Amino acid sequence: MNKVFEGIKPEEFFSKYGDADSCYRFLEEGKWSKGFVCNKCGNTNYCSGKKPFSRRCTRCKHEESVTAHTLFHNCKLPITDAFRILFSICCNPQISAYKISKDECIRQMTCWKLRKKIMEWMQEKGSIFENR
Ligand SMILES: [Zn+2]
Repeated sequence: MNKVFEGIKPEEFFSKYGDADSCYRFLEEGKWSKGFVCNKCGNTNYCSGKKPFSRRCTRCKHEESVTAHTLFHNCKLPITDAFRILFSICCNPQISAYKISKDECIRQMTCWKLRKKIMEWMQEKGSIFENR
């Protein structure tokens, strides 16, 4: 759980992942750390997709977003907010949805849902990426 941002101090975290591009780059590097492999056809060649940081298979044209097959798949919150919430939980797994909601000024139900997803995902996979 706390391995996601291992050794990163809060002030370091906020300067490093304060903008969406940095968050997406973090996902890009983790998700495709062993290189791109198309989910549909297994091809390893890609070009840039339509959305920022997404990759598109040069053979079957399947486009994969940078959040697909990660913890943040279908996450409706801005990625920077989602990252901050993940970081809070990594630092303090006991933190309540109520506290997150107050800290982040995000609706408590939204925080509750994301917190639940993070806890379940991390318990199951031990990483924010899906092992493929
Ligand atoms: Zn393909």
